[in-house]
Amino acid sequence: MSTDSTARAWMEVSGAALLRNLERVRSAAGPEVALIPMVKANAYGLGVANALALLETREPHGYGVATVAEGVELRRLGVQRPVVVFSPVAPQALQVGVEAGLTFGVSSMEALQALQRLSGELEREVEIHIEVDTGMGRAGFPVSFAPELGAAVAASGLRWKGVFTHFHSAEDDSPSSVQEQVARFDEALGHLALPADPDFLVHLCNSAAAVRYPELARHAVRPGILLYGGLEGAEPVVSVRARISHVRTVEAGTSAGYGATYRSREAERWGTVSIGYGDGIRRSLAHGGHALVRGRRVPILGRISMDMTVVDISDVAQAGWGDVVTFLGSDGDESISLHEMAAQAGTISYELLTGFTPRLPRIWQSEER
Ligand SMILES: *Cc1c(COP(=O)(O)O)cnc(C)c1O
Repeated sequence: MSTDSTARAWMEVSGAALLRNLERVRSAAGPEVALIPMVKANAYGLGVANALALLETREPHGYGVATVAEGVELRRLGVQRPVVVFSPVAPQALQVGVEAGLTFGVSSMEALQALQRLSGELEREVEIHIEVDTGMGRAGFPVSFAPELGAAVAASGLRWKGVFTHFHSAEDDSPSSVQEQVARFDEALGHLALPADPDFLVHLCNSAAAVRYPELARHAVRPGILLYGGLEGAEPVVSVRARISHVRTVEAGTSAGYGATYRSREAERWGTVSIGYGDGIRRSLAHGGHALVRGRRVPILGRISMDMTVVDISDVAQAGWGDVVTFLGSDGDESISLHEMAAQAGTISYELLTGFTPRLPRIWQSEER
């Protein structure tokens, strides 16, 4: 375990584990398949600048983001590769994206025409990928629109670099929804006269699909959560730790936290830990959630506050003021996985990772632990 000697609470990120997760995707998809790592939402909350510095060493085809501002940030950080804004964009943001040389995922004729206009006005080449909606229902042209689409894109003068769709249930046990979406996507492709560009990319796979259905990779894959350790079976990447800032021994009947929802049944030792929901520790972890102290599992007591969380350290005699408490990750032989934390909090690994707030310094470790 490495620690920050002064911080009250922090996040540790293993760069080595992130790169091993990327290599796992590459070996599943095969060496010919282009990698488009998704670095949206500050690289799923881990810190995009550090993530890019590592990912660049593996020379991916480009990067995926969700917003124009995220794409602009990548350019500011020096990224020269294609940066694809995969979520649809409101008209107000398009010009900034065109000026930054971003590639747009396009889901409507309105967006296509607006980009065509901007490309002319600004005298800038604009690259696009066409999205086909095969079941997500949030973005993409409907499959029925495909017969008109090829000609419209060709006539737009925009540089057509790819076509893609997105799976809604790639992590499910049953492959039937994936097969159904692939069939719809292929139906759309059948109606589109794709450009003869050798760099043109047909792509479908997020993390779960890239490792579970490598035969669907086509020209590129778009892994996100797996890189950051949030897919079951991925190597853990993130740990969240904080220090005990106060210790006390309480009598039976002492209450803890807002609402006094916990009361000690006997004399207990409590540690107040300097972390709370203001750092992204979910309130829903209370009443059943655990943390790790000196390699032991200890229960969280009462409600989680904005800045503090109380744990029961009665069974860890040596635990004391200043000790490190692990809410996510390993300590000795014990560990709390993103999967466990998400199940306990009633959410998913994606929401946990992107919910850790800027209050937690992100400490990147590129060397092996
Ligand atoms: C976020 C996103 C991905 C990555 O999904 P993961 O499940 O995190 O691998 C891929 N494609 C698109 C279009 C996305 O928005």
